[in-house]
Amino acid sequence: MSDQLQRFIFDDYQIRGEIARAHNSFSEIIKNHHYPTEIVNIIGELLVATSLLTATLKFAGKISVQLQGDGPLNLAVINGNQDQELRGTARVEGDTTGLSFKQLIGKGHLLITITPDNGERYQGIVELRKESLSECLEDYFAQSEQLPTRIILHASNIDKPQAAGLLLQTLPAVNEDHEEQFQHVSALASTVKEEELYTLENAQLLHRLYHQETLRLFEPTVISFKCSCSKERCLSSLASIAPEEILEMLEENGAIDMHCEYCASDYHFEADDLKILLTDQHNTQH
Ligand SMILES: [Zn+2]
Repeated sequence: MSDQLQRFIFDDYQIRGEIARAHNSFSEIIKNHHYPTEIVNIIGELLVATSLLTATLKFAGKISVQLQGDGPLNLAVINGNQDQELRGTARVEGDTTGLSFKQLIGKGHLLITITPDNGERYQGIVELRKESLSECLEDYFAQSEQLPTRIILHASNIDKPQAAGLLLQTLPAVNEDHEEQFQHVSALASTVKEEELYTLENAQLLHRLYHQETLRLFEPTVISFKCSCSKERCLSSLASIAPEEILEMLEENGAIDMHCEYCASDYHFEADDLKILLTDQHNTQH
């Protein structure tokens, strides 16, 4: 089953929804790392959550969803863009065995950064006070946008990597009955089983949950794993280091090695590869 996000809307209610399934991207994000099970599950949930949030972007740009805390999971981050190209990484210290979401993060917060290609960068932050990522995100929406939101996230890597989620949100202009309608729709969403979210086709899943309602489904968008690192990007970051320092590093180690935390790619530069860079810098400095 391919990774995709599909939006839908209830014809009779002021409520919109999204389903995201990202098994392959999840697999790509974790495959070259040795994350403990507890961390793998959080990365999967964060990936799906970022995809669901990305679908709300109304412009071209980037989104970054980060969990930061003083627990064993120092940092977990997923970066995405309007084309649903996602990547992510996590930093873990110490034993995570059997720890809950809250224990893994400790005292921390959820940070959402939206960077439009044209326009001001926006950052939203919420303290992590709930027992799960989905509840923390619901909390974020309640605080930042005052929009009743229900989010269901599941991720697991028991037999194979699987990650999926469902989002329901009240539209900004709501009628008087919206609270009751939202309760109704969200109670039905709570009956969805983890396995159903992983495996059912969206139309089938929505029929299972909402066969008494009229829904409109939009064209699905493909979700994919994509890392933006490259040899050129490494070189341009090396260009910000003084040529003397680069020469020093080369003398010490014979080469400069760089590692991408997101996709675990390694980049190896020897003196010959850096010649142009050193000459260019030499020229611009004199
Ligand atoms: Zn990379």
